[in-house]
Amino acid sequence: MINALGIDVEEWFHICGIKSSVIEKENHIFESRVIENTTQLLEVLKEYNVRATFFILGIIAQNFPDLVRKISEYGHEVASHSFNHFLVYRQTRDEFERDLKNSIEILSAITSKKILGFRAPDFSIVKESLWALDVLRNAGIKYDCSIFPVTHPRYGIPKAKTNIYEIRNGLIEFPPSTIRILGKNFPVAGGAYFRILPYSFIKLAIKKLNSNNLPANIYLHPWEIDYKQPRLKIPFVRSFTHYVGLKKALSKFKRLLSDFRFAPISEVLAIERD
Ligand SMILES: [Zn+2]
Repeated sequence: MINALGIDVEEWFHICGIKSSVIEKENHIFESRVIENTTQLLEVLKEYNVRATFFILGIIAQNFPDLVRKISEYGHEVASHSFNHFLVYRQTRDEFERDLKNSIEILSAITSKKILGFRAPDFSIVKESLWALDVLRNAGIKYDCSIFPVTHPRYGIPKAKTNIYEIRNGLIEFPPSTIRILGKNFPVAGGAYFRILPYSFIKLAIKKLNSNNLPANIYLHPWEIDYKQPRLKIPFVRSFTHYVGLKKALSKFKRLLSDFRFAPISEVLAIERD
């Protein structure tokens, strides 16, 4: 079975929803590490002969168009992770629409390809921001990977479907993978979960999904393989989930690449790319 792999291309300091911090307003004061990290990831994927979907921020594309070109030239799918990495539920519909369209415009201009996929920063399509799905559809997006079917303080719709489904307006939703444990959906898909959980558990979870004929939808950020990144002073829980397990993330990721087959999300969903 071919599983889906998504890489959210953002800087090490793109941390959503940290109030009072300078993160959202003064991104420019931090050193950029995204080129180095993403290039390393591209080489790893090449070594394992794996292509993926890269959900790229518009602001990264604006600053580093050559990086986006390189990702596309390596045969990966380019999709949108919004322009500014703002939480969907903290924006008005108009603000979100403008941000989304700006990201699609710049990514399609650089790659000369249609942008078909979207992942919201911090999975911020929740009950209160489901209006975003219509905005996505109207902007030509064909699939979304933002609705996490889990209980979490910042995101998630716990009772959302866990497999691939079509949303009423034609948009396809492919949620990050979870498995059912004691009647609850447990995330196994990526990010902090990928870094905290033992690899043997993740492997078993993907095997279980695949044995039920479900492709896994796994995600990773380029900063997760950069354990030397500077540490920001953020609240303890965020700090823990953001920085835990960075050192072992790359070797774990390589094991994943050698144990399972992956493809860009539009290919797993068999959506035409032209
Ligand atoms: Zn993000």
